[in-house]
Amino acid sequence: MERLKQILQRIDGKGYKAYRDIAGSYAGDGFVLHIDHVQADPFAAPSRIRVAFGGKETAADPEWLRTRCRRIAVEDFFARSIADSIRRYGIRPVGHGKSGMIAVDRPGQEVLPRTAVKVEEHGIEVRLSVGLPAAGRTVLGQEAARMLCESVPAILRQALFRYDRTRLRAHWELADQQEAIRAFLQARGYAAFVANGSVLPRESGISDRPMQGREAVPFRSPASLEVEIPLPHREPIRGMAIRNGVTLIVGGGYHGKSTLLKAIERGVYNHIPGDGREYVITDDSACKIRAEDGRRVEKVNISPFISNLPFGKDTRRFSTEDASGSTSQAANIMEALEMGTKLLLIDEDTSATNFMIRDARMQALVAKRKEPITPFVDKVRKLYEQHRVSTILVLGGSGDYFHAADTVLMLDEYEPVDVTEEAKRIARQLDDGRKPEGGDSFGDVTPRVVLPGSFDATRGKREKADAKGLSKIVYGTHEIALDLVEQLVDPSQTRAIACMLTALAKTYADGRTTLREMVDRLYAAVGEQGLEAVSPYDGHPGDLALPRKYELAAALNRLRTLNVKG
Ligand code: ADP
Ligand code: MG
Repeated sequence: MERLKQILQRIDGKGYKAYRDIAGSYAGDGFVLHIDHVQADPFAAPSRIRVAFGGKETAADPEWLRTRCRRIAVEDFFARSIADSIRRYGIRPVGHGKSGMIAVDRPGQEVLPRTAVKVEEHGIEVRLSVGLPAAGRTVLGQEAARMLCESVPAILRQALFRYDRTRLRAHWELADQQEAIRAFLQARGYAAFVANGSVLPRESGISDRPMQGREAVPFRSPASLEVEIPLPHREPIRGMAIRNGVTLIVGGGYHGKSTLLKAIERGVYNHIPGDGREYVITDDSACKIRAEDGRRVEKVNISPFISNLPFGKDTRRFSTEDASGSTSQAANIMEALEMGTKLLLIDEDTSATNFMIRDARMQALVAKRKEPITPFVDKVRKLYEQHRVSTILVLGGSGDYFHAADTVLMLDEYEPVDVTEEAKRIARQLDDGRKPEGGDSFGDVTPRVVLPGSFDATRGKREKADAKGLSKIVYGTHEIALDLVEQLVDPSQTRAIACMLTALAKTYADGRTTLREMVDRLYAAVGEQGLEAVSPYDGHPGDLALPRKYELAAALNRLRTLNVKG
């Protein structure tokens, strides 16, 4: 670190480019500082540094590394701890641009595998972004020395040595419990679990934090759907378990239907203690399906839902630059099935009505041969019986699904009531008068092979694959819009998707392997080597968090240049 100080002294007052000289590794007291990337100017993307602590104090407790989910939880804990420590340290801006900034990739409400912190047997490595201080474009060497040699080590010592041990333990014990619930659901044929006492509503429409205070009505399972799950580190937990099959969530407007579904949709991820949804656990292959008119579709077999389009357009290999509500929803389902989902989540609020229902009167007026759409109501049962894919659907506006449902749940002032028997009785007494239109079989899910050249990220001489916030990726000369991919939850996942797309293009797409197989192979590599395997950088891998394969595929499917074989 003395050497670093000397370099900084020497370049003090020089042009910003002189900062290049500090790239390298420096040994400090109990740590090694790696300066992996030096920003080109004070306004450019910040510099990337790593700090590796290797002393006895940061040696991992063997308990932390016993399982993958524990390691992820512990790394997540330290990332939060570092973010808190940075905030408490109170960094003041010292110059221009990003001068003086120190940041870690702070997680949100979900606990995701991320590159911010790496915990290993012998120590902890932290990945930070810093803004090297400048006045205008002049190096502020003194300030830089203070930041790198004093502030950064002080912040990290606070975060890594003086954290609350009870809270860390609670963090990974929760991960154990969440994993136990997942295993229980899988073994017993359940799709989702919502614990009694869960707080599902959020603070506001733009916040992911729990609603505070007495207004929030805690979840309580109807007796008929209640199960008890034994958990490690605590007493058993009770709550509502939704069986595999077809589940309908009904109830009056504003009674909490969408809020419940949203919580279930997020239950594919683990949440932090205090989130309110930490014991809401969903089959992690669950895919939220919605209408997304305007999206592009590339040779997807949507024939289970759509056929006989005007002008004989082929729906076994359906492509469009501008999907309609119903065709986009059909494509979203078929793409999720292609990737192997076992659970679809659908909300009437974000669905195309003509995709969901077609009632008796409409059947009488518009003949089947004039209507390309086979509504979901005629397929939902077959999807489960023939493909073992369950559906949970929010539908307050039509009783046509009653006969197809295994379970009907009614929300009454945010309280769920099991109304299955009543709904079945009503379905028997009040005939919906519909003629089933779905045929005998659900239809085929057709695997696709993507052509490698069709998602090349080069732009001019360079390669470009950058995330812009949560829902946009600039890829080559195109943009990928992910605004309506609702289970993408963290901008670091979006950054990872950008990297993963280029990895797919460069090493996994060979013009023969199917999309799903190719993605599975990439995930196998990431499972073994971590997200570092897809990072374009050496050293500091960038701020990445693992997306699910469904969101990665969703990004590829929305790329406007994508070309599928055949
Ligand atoms: P629906 O889909 O049935 O029309 P929503 O799920 O959109 O209803 O919920 C309507 C409103 O009620 C939202 O503002 C939501 O935050 C709030 N809400 C939902 N569940 C609860 C609850 N358990 N306690 C308090 N408020 C809730
Ligand atoms: Mg709603």
